[in-house]
Amino acid sequence: MYDIVVIGAGTAGMTAGLYAARGGMKVIVLEGEGYGGQIVVSPEVENYPGIPNISGYDFSEGLYKQMLDCGAEYKQANVTRIEGDFGSFKVYTDSEAFDAKTVILATGVKNRKLGLSNEEQMTGLGVSYCATCDGNFFRKKTVAVNGGGNTALEDAIFLSKICEKVYVIHRRNAFRGEEAYVKQLKALDNVEIMTPYTVDSINGTERVTSLTLNNAETNDKVDIDVNGLFVAIGQVPNNQAFADVVELDEAGYIKALEDTLTSKKGIYAAGDCRTKEVRQLATAAADGATAAYKAINDINLM
Ligand code: NAP
Repeated sequence: MYDIVVIGAGTAGMTAGLYAARGGMKVIVLEGEGYGGQIVVSPEVENYPGIPNISGYDFSEGLYKQMLDCGAEYKQANVTRIEGDFGSFKVYTDSEAFDAKTVILATGVKNRKLGLSNEEQMTGLGVSYCATCDGNFFRKKTVAVNGGGNTALEDAIFLSKICEKVYVIHRRNAFRGEEAYVKQLKALDNVEIMTPYTVDSINGTERVTSLTLNNAETNDKVDIDVNGLFVAIGQVPNNQAFADVVELDEAGYIKALEDTLTSKKGIYAAGDCRTKEVRQLATAAADGATAAYKAINDINLM
């Protein structure tokens, strides 16, 4: 019987594991893919308090090691459902089940797709969702980044150092991401900002050769020759497996406030998977700590 089973090993989940272990709890963190979560592919993290500059990979490695050193367990396992009540939950994975007094959901989010007909077919043939993973394949080539948030802006800055030319395509004239990144991009000679445009079609048979863009104000079409398209248009939650135990909002996020309490006693939601306004590394870490504290308090009051 674990005191706490944490589902998801991103920043929120691993911070929860760290705080739970330091709080004397028997805790295991389960993760269906690799540990680290979304930040693992961020080339440079410059806004985590106290760390002026670190790669997302190094940040995740450090947190993973810190969590294990404090006594948290980790297992790669895909959680399929949760049954039971506070004090006696059963957490099922593809291969086994874990008994837990409490559960912290830190399932994060997944990349949003553009929804274009050949997007899936062209993934790996020029379409990518991860600039740090795939950027090197486009060395000295021309690429486009689609999106207006921090991910798209960071990706475009990263790619501008590798690629001959980078288009930044965003559906509005104003960017959602930080002004500091926009300023950096505007100062780069090999970056061309295309707003307000959406990607109408991905062209090419064996590989991406061009994109057709649609001007969101005039509906005029324009073709740009590119070797690759990096899609960075945000994320969507992946909580359907838990919809029968905790309440979700219309978009699929777990309903929980800053206290991380969900509609089910003994289940807490931390990080990007819950309803919240600011989804940042710092707020994910804060959620992980809060959820662990709440679980520890509830267990101590049992
Ligand atoms: P995001 O902030 O949600 O931005 C998504 C962008 O994609 C928006 O500009 C949005 O346009 C656009 N978009 C959404 N759906 C679209 C569609 N169907 N077609 C075309 N464009 C579409 O996502 P993100 O950039 O991945 O960032 C997620 C969170 O992580 C944010 O809170 C971000 O600040 C944070 N983050 C932080 C760091 C860091 O702190 N270093 C790094 C990366 C990400 P609109 O603006 O028009 O809605």
